[in-house]
Amino acid sequence: MDVISAVPRRKTRQIMVGKVPVGGDAPITVQSMTITKTADVEGTLQQIYALAAAGADIVRCTCNEIEAAEGLAQIVPRSPVPIVADIHHQYKMALAALEAGVHCLRLNPGNIRNPEHIKAVASECKDRGVPIRIGVNGGSLDSKLYEKYGGKVTPEAMVESARIELAYFEEVGFDDVKISVKASSVPLMIEAYRQLADAVDYPLHLGVTEAGPPPAGLIKATAGMATLLAEGIGDTIRYSLTADPVEEARAGRQLLEALGLRQRKSVDLIACPSCGRAEVDVIDVAKRAMEAFGDRLIPLQVAVMGCVVNGPGEARDADIGIAAGRKKGHLFIKGRNVAVVPEDEMVETLVRYAERIMEDGIDAVLAAADTKGAKKAADEDRAALLGSQGADANNAGTRIDLIRKKA
Ligand code: SF4
Repeated sequence: MDVISAVPRRKTRQIMVGKVPVGGDAPITVQSMTITKTADVEGTLQQIYALAAAGADIVRCTCNEIEAAEGLAQIVPRSPVPIVADIHHQYKMALAALEAGVHCLRLNPGNIRNPEHIKAVASECKDRGVPIRIGVNGGSLDSKLYEKYGGKVTPEAMVESARIELAYFEEVGFDDVKISVKASSVPLMIEAYRQLADAVDYPLHLGVTEAGPPPAGLIKATAGMATLLAEGIGDTIRYSLTADPVEEARAGRQLLEALGLRQRKSVDLIACPSCGRAEVDVIDVAKRAMEAFGDRLIPLQVAVMGCVVNGPGEARDADIGIAAGRKKGHLFIKGRNVAVVPEDEMVETLVRYAERIMEDGIDAVLAAADTKGAKKAADEDRAALLGSQGADANNAGTRIDLIRKKA
């Protein structure tokens, strides 16, 4: 069920980052950033292609020196996705990036403070039809605002920083804008985005900045972005992880898929948490299955279940799944038993049948299977396990007797 779609999305203007629309009724997009030197054209392009394959719709590259701008001039025409130039401190790098043909700029208002410089960049963007992201960052807030708000970073200070920048843009008639108010504190960024969403109708780029390495970084970023997305706030997202940026792009795609905000392209792997009834190392099988499917374009829900006693029932809504039982893997499709294989072939069988479903469709695969024989084998293993383990893997009956005796 698509839960999030029940929440109305905040109404915004729409801008175009190259050919990718952001805001309005456009699908929420995923962004990431290269970590190569932008002057290294081939290395950067290789990373951009990897990011796009993992789910990035838009990629940002730093433009911190003239060699980087020259690199962008070669990267932009060969990139599969629009390129945003990241600008700090030197407004001339923004002008150089525009000359290179980038599709968007990111300006940090805390680092470029001269109004004339800001207006010069906005004017140039207006003439070229290139949007700007106002990228407020809690860690590099304008010192005057920092002082004004009592020597700390507050949501109000971050929103005011964005509004000051917007006012400069308005002076030159430029409004092709999206905005971010990122902080490394999740509660702070959530409140800043909420206030910004009330104050303006520009598209918002979400992120928890400097979230750190996974898994803690993933959790922080997800907590912040998912909370806002569930409130209908956010038009494009970026995970800022201390990790291979491909992980950022993949996480962004997976977050939107999990929330029902993006059509699934790859496997949704579900797995039981395992328990005393497990007939196999569920953690290992799930990990190997995840690796085997990777980012392959197989948009199925795939279940890995530790026992045939409860597994097929608990995962009956999955497109395809496998449950362990007495050194065997019982494969099921839409809750119907389809095949029985040796335990060490569970993962390859899952992948093989998933591929067949993609090629021939679920009905054809079910029609070709010996469902009766597979069900019989599963029923036998289930009955044998129930006989040896009982219906209750926790031995509740025995425990209750003991509790009663001690009472
Ligand atoms: Fe997994 Fe079976 Fe335990 Fe459910 S009962 S958690 S399927 S091992």
